[in-house]
Amino acid sequence: MSRPIQALIDLNALKSNLQVVRRHAPGSSVYAIIKANAYGHGMLRAAQALNDADGFALLELDDAVRLREAGFRQRILLLEGFFDPLELPTIAESGLALVIHAIEQVEMLEATWLPVRLDVSVKINTGMNRLGFAPEMVAQVITRLKACPIVGNIMLMTHFATADESAGIARQLAQFDALSKDLNLPVSLANSAAILRFPESHRDWVRPGIMLYGSSPFPGISAEELTLQPAMTLSTEIIGIQHLKAGDEVGYGAAYRADRETRIAVVACGYADGYPRHAPSGTPILVCGKLTKTVGRVSMDMLCADVTTIPEALVGSPVTLWGRGLPADEIAKAAETVSYELFCAVTSRVPMVEES
Ligand SMILES: *Cc1c(COP(=O)(O)O)cnc(C)c1O
Repeated sequence: MSRPIQALIDLNALKSNLQVVRRHAPGSSVYAIIKANAYGHGMLRAAQALNDADGFALLELDDAVRLREAGFRQRILLLEGFFDPLELPTIAESGLALVIHAIEQVEMLEATWLPVRLDVSVKINTGMNRLGFAPEMVAQVITRLKACPIVGNIMLMTHFATADESAGIARQLAQFDALSKDLNLPVSLANSAAILRFPESHRDWVRPGIMLYGSSPFPGISAEELTLQPAMTLSTEIIGIQHLKAGDEVGYGAAYRADRETRIAVVACGYADGYPRHAPSGTPILVCGKLTKTVGRVSMDMLCADVTTIPEALVGSPVTLWGRGLPADEIAKAAETVSYELFCAVTSRVPMVEES
């Protein structure tokens, strides 16, 4: 038998979460965000499950071409656009749309000839100060793009920095609306948090990511409350049991010391599988379907769980690291990160298994 860890990808959960997007934003088209290998869920598999989306958005040109070659006819948007004019012929052949966020990209488009026109999304910096044009540059950029013979349809977009936080989106939205109102172009603004919280941001195209994968974008609201279903369940088995006396220690650095007789399960999952090494003792974990906590440091290939109160836990018993029955958001909270990072960090040695 092989090492028991696996990531189970629930295709129906992906489909159901897309329906949640549709319910919240019934008037908008949907770009399903499948960057970073669909947040670690497998790009082609996720795209198949999300085939009802009106478009897909991601970063790498190779992946976008693979998506086209796999037969997807929807719009495909490259979220950082292109990096070198040598990419443009491939982009044109595959019929991909480009985010344009820097004046250098406009200059490269102006200096290139292609037999077709490329659709572009002009990214505007409304306060996140990451990618995008300063508001005062937008009119000039649009004028130049409209005059560019290889540019086709133009859309406007921006990205919110605090759609999931108390600050909300009001300032960025006001900024965006002020500069876009006379341009009369289609608009895409909303990530998952804005889709769920700010209907006024939905506009022509929404851009859900994390909610498709079944996690909550909000610290204080669970995925279940948002009727989202976990798309990834990371599971494994117990491969050893230890009996500790009071005062015995566990793992590297002897970071955990038992204060009483304790039964410890050694679990086949470590940071080389993508489990966060900085998850502290006390991080929730399911053993035989029962909630308990990790103890000691996470090592490369193993971690430990307290199974003192779970006598049925034996070598071979099932363990869930996150997913069904244990939201990834809870592990993320314990490890002071976000579920996005947990999903993306799952490594290639973890076999992915589909379920539909
Ligand atoms: C990643 C990304 C999204 C999706 O964000 P979520 O918080 O996962 O919904 C939307 N828009 C852009 C530009 C992104 O890069």
